[in-house]
Amino acid sequence: MPLKEGDIVHLIDRKGKKYQIMLKKGGSFFFHRGSVSHDDIIGLEEGSIVKSTRGEPLFVWRPTLSDFILKMRRGAQVIYPKDIGAILMLADIFPGARVLEAGTGSGALTLALLRAVGENGIVFSYENRSDFLEIAKQNIQTFFKHAAAGSEVGIGKLVLRQQDIYEGIAERNLDRIILDLPTPWRALKHVKASLRSGGILLCYLPTVLQVFKLAKRISKGGFSITGIHEVLMREWEISGISIRPAHRMVAHTGFIFVARKLAEEEN
Ligand code: SAH
Repeated sequence: MPLKEGDIVHLIDRKGKKYQIMLKKGGSFFFHRGSVSHDDIIGLEEGSIVKSTRGEPLFVWRPTLSDFILKMRRGAQVIYPKDIGAILMLADIFPGARVLEAGTGSGALTLALLRAVGENGIVFSYENRSDFLEIAKQNIQTFFKHAAAGSEVGIGKLVLRQQDIYEGIAERNLDRIILDLPTPWRALKHVKASLRSGGILLCYLPTVLQVFKLAKRISKGGFSITGIHEVLMREWEISGISIRPAHRMVAHTGFIFVARKLAEEEN
């Protein structure tokens, strides 16, 4: 599908630096190596190469979800794409699932969940801060409407709730619950009431003290811990015959803590 006005595209220079723009008739993109008129991009297929006024070639792509997450507006810190990938598998998010997450934050995980549950699935997302909820709403709308053009077909239903999850969860019979909160153990009582037997609770925790506290609280009953994980992703670089790991890496983000709910008679 050719690129049109209103689409979000990424322009990538020869060093790999990514610039995000929304195409607008008559608009111009400026950077340190000249400028490109939006009109020269509108109508092209993604995967084209355009040249700036100073002769710098730029690749033109629609952003992947991962590209978009790293560029989108942030209220709260987002979960990194490397962790989101693992979370989708470790929480076993499937088409048609009933999933709850908290907090919504900037909506990075929400975006991935909406795609993974598909059109028969539903995502309930709790966030207590109205300003963050607004940013998340905008990010979600922008991605499906302008970045992944046409891909709103087939995504899950989204229910956003401006609510403190420690005060309660309205939904019942949930397949999966994902908590990206500083003190998830405070929601355990509600999680227990809302998750179906065999359902998965996944918590994303930056520090080991949080892992310790959650493990202690969770072992009091109702759940079985099935795994505690950490994802290390090392980038590699290729330049002629020099092929080696990048000098810098993201060394720590968060721990992924997974538990399953036991059947009532086991409690
Ligand atoms: N997973 C999100 C980031 C979440 S950051 C993303 O990928 O974009 C944690 C969020 O939890 C923050 O936005 C914070 O406001 C929210 N939060 C903290 N305590 C909460 C509570 N008790 N109920 C609902 N949301 C809460």
